[in-house]
Amino acid sequence: MKKKIITVVGARPQFIKAAALSKAIMEDGRIEEVIVHTGQHFDENMSDIFFTEMQIPQPKYRFSINGLNHGAMTGRMLEQIEDVILTEKPDLLLVYGDTNSTLAGALAAKKLKVKVAHVESGLRSYNMAMPEEINRILTDRISDFLFCPTDTAVANLKREGFDTFPAVIRNTGDIMFDSLLLFKQYIGNASQEIRKIAEGTFILCTLHRAENTDDETRLTGIFNALNRIAEERVIILPLHPRTRKKIDKIDLHDNIKIIDPVGYFEMLYLLEHCSLVMTDSGGLQKEAFFNRKFCVTLRDETEWTELVDSHCNRLTGADTELIVNTYHMLKDQQFTENRNFYGDGHTARHIIETLLMENAQSVKNL
Ligand code: UDP
Repeated sequence: MKKKIITVVGARPQFIKAAALSKAIMEDGRIEEVIVHTGQHFDENMSDIFFTEMQIPQPKYRFSINGLNHGAMTGRMLEQIEDVILTEKPDLLLVYGDTNSTLAGALAAKKLKVKVAHVESGLRSYNMAMPEEINRILTDRISDFLFCPTDTAVANLKREGFDTFPAVIRNTGDIMFDSLLLFKQYIGNASQEIRKIAEGTFILCTLHRAENTDDETRLTGIFNALNRIAEERVIILPLHPRTRKKIDKIDLHDNIKIIDPVGYFEMLYLLEHCSLVMTDSGGLQKEAFFNRKFCVTLRDETEWTELVDSHCNRLTGADTELIVNTYHMLKDQQFTENRNFYGDGHTARHIIETLLMENAQSVKNL
């Protein structure tokens, strides 16, 4: 009989990761996957575009749990995912990353004695003020399969004593690398509109993290820097209308081109053609690296420390001078790093093989 798993997704990066893993699961044929979409970031992530353009199997269950405080959101997800588990009776529940959907899925399953697999396990920012850090630590602690994207993530788990827990721990590589390799061939599908906007030399910038968008001082610090950089270079900034409203009062240089959030193929097009990435996103820091572009990270810390250690990524926080100076330092620098920190591009296959192993409990890549 096929092994049955429930996969919980709810936010943009999880759709991108699921696009690679769910496709591989379908092709492999030995696992039956039931997808649950919590609706966590429904509008912001234009989830339908992601599902159709990347041909992710349609969710069997779709909730609409968004726009709530963390407690209410996680609570409602917990309740509804529990119902799905009781109906579907899966062998395992799989979650990605660090959102409320991740934690709710893991917790609902574990309490019903269903095994939990966490993809992107072991990442740490060591900033407990981030809701994402709380979600990922708690999810790791109750997971049975911890699929780490990097050696750093494995080392983090070891430091926290995970080698003494009865869990499978494996560095499978990064599932986002699989997604990028899988979808790079569709860059040609990027719209004429995006191609037009992306003519010439430009910086690709994204900004969505609450620590920046909900803090006026940080937001002003970042936009003061972007305004100065825009004096010499175009900046393309896909921005959700909600974040856009928050910068209503800031005068923006004409070279800052704010556009609506884009689909993944268009994002890959922008990544391929930009000269530099500036972001507070986790995923984009790696995608900059995959595209051999330097990244200025508008945060005080990052989970992807190997990129900072190798100087591919510079942390500037929201400090105007530091952002501007870092831009000047990097703008003409050659990208020479040749190491690959994120696996062999077959993360999905490694995850599937591990999930199907009879003696998986013995796998501890620590
Ligand atoms: N992304 C996208 N369109 C956008 C902005 C981002 O396709 O307008 C992609 C981006 O390439 C990356 C992922 O969404 O793969 C990152 O999502 P986000 O920044 O929301 O989350 P994080 O990575 O910080 O968890």
